[in-house]
Amino acid sequence: MAKVRIYLRKSLTFVRIISVTPLSLPPAVSTISPFSSPFYVLAKSAGSRCNLSCAYCYYLEKSKLYGQGEAQVMDDAMLERFVRSYIEAQTTPSVLFTWHGGETLMRPLSFYRRAVALQRKYAAGRVIDNCIQTNGTLLTDEWCRFFRDEGWLVGVSIDGPQPIHDHYRRTRSGRPSFVQVMKGIEMLRRHGVEWNALAVVNDLNVGDPLGFYRFFRSIDCHYLQFTPIVERLQPHADGRRLAAVDEAGAGGMLPMSVTPEAWGTFLCTLFDEWVHHDVGQCFVQLFDSTLANWMGQPPGICTLAPTCGHAAALEWNGDVYSCDHFVFPEYRLGNLREQSFVEMMYSERQRAFGQAKRTTLPNRCRQCPWLFACNGECPKNRFLHTPEGEPGLNYLCKGYRQFFSHVAPYMDWMKQELLHQRPPAAIVSLLQRDPHAFD
Ligand code: SF4
Ligand code: SF4
Repeated sequence: MAKVRIYLRKSLTFVRIISVTPLSLPPAVSTISPFSSPFYVLAKSAGSRCNLSCAYCYYLEKSKLYGQGEAQVMDDAMLERFVRSYIEAQTTPSVLFTWHGGETLMRPLSFYRRAVALQRKYAAGRVIDNCIQTNGTLLTDEWCRFFRDEGWLVGVSIDGPQPIHDHYRRTRSGRPSFVQVMKGIEMLRRHGVEWNALAVVNDLNVGDPLGFYRFFRSIDCHYLQFTPIVERLQPHADGRRLAAVDEAGAGGMLPMSVTPEAWGTFLCTLFDEWVHHDVGQCFVQLFDSTLANWMGQPPGICTLAPTCGHAAALEWNGDVYSCDHFVFPEYRLGNLREQSFVEMMYSERQRAFGQAKRTTLPNRCRQCPWLFACNGECPKNRFLHTPEGEPGLNYLCKGYRQFFSHVAPYMDWMKQELLHQRPPAAIVSLLQRDPHAFD
């Protein structure tokens, strides 16, 4: 699992804008005040608790950071503290709450009803949005009615067709989860809840990009996000097995990880299918974000942005970490009981964390023709040395180079359409007339 939901609203806004009203692009974030750019917090309401035990999950082991035997879920006092201080810390007229797991639905519905009541209490005229990520297996009609009535966006984790999904996404007792997830999606659809799919790309589904993409089209998914597994093994005294970026990764790659080559081929194949058939119909976050970067607009996904530091992770007990991908002791900013979000999110330490994405780029990236689109991708994945021996090269570099050079002519064309106030979705009819227009 990876953190992408919080960008979804922004991403959807962008793609809807470019597919419906070209050139009505969102204004760039003001740089007048350091406090004028919004920040986001991914709240782990259920801590790392989950009814599934997916083989590649990096959330489950986070419970080892905390004492055993505790409930490790957000209590009412922390919920109220979070809602109040998160709203108060924002300088924008709208506030986005992102609920994340573990499995979020392991908190009772009453918890989220209370969250909504608190949001109303402290909103002070601000517009409040919510999105929630779930594995989909615990959805009921009652949950769906709540999401619909409150206008929540629901992200469902699903990795593709049944055999692929069930290979890694199983219950603690080893039972497959696909059938339950699909029942959940069907329920969401029946109740008219806005939903999107989040897939993890692993060593299995990376080999069948067309099967992967067509599956999502077959279940009528119009908003697709996916994130690759890139994890290294590193034994820790507390029992955790995954490495932080600055650790050696002595145990090698987690076997479910993608290879850079497979990732590149996956992206190119998926892009070809999308660009020939579905631009403007199916919104693929990575492609939207790539086009945004081509336009010089903020991308909807943090991994392709030039800096980090705008999105923290809040653990169940109030601990705040620099990023959801950096929930390691050395990246703990503080605790909400002792410090405010403003103190932590605008601290020198967090600013340095965010800027490091740009300032630690190796020369190979600085001289790369695709830097404007890639920005060195996520710092979590920068654990290679360049051929020149410089540290900090992204493990997925080779795949991204392949992808950006492959999509460049298409992106150039769509960019021109946008600049001329025409919807880029016209690329589909162009390619239908001449499938080799960009060869
Ligand atoms: S480290 Fe930066 S790019 Fe990576 S997930 Fe966090 S915010 Fe996004
Ligand atoms: S494609 Fe590779 S070299 Fe270029 S910016 Fe991305 S990570 Fe750096």
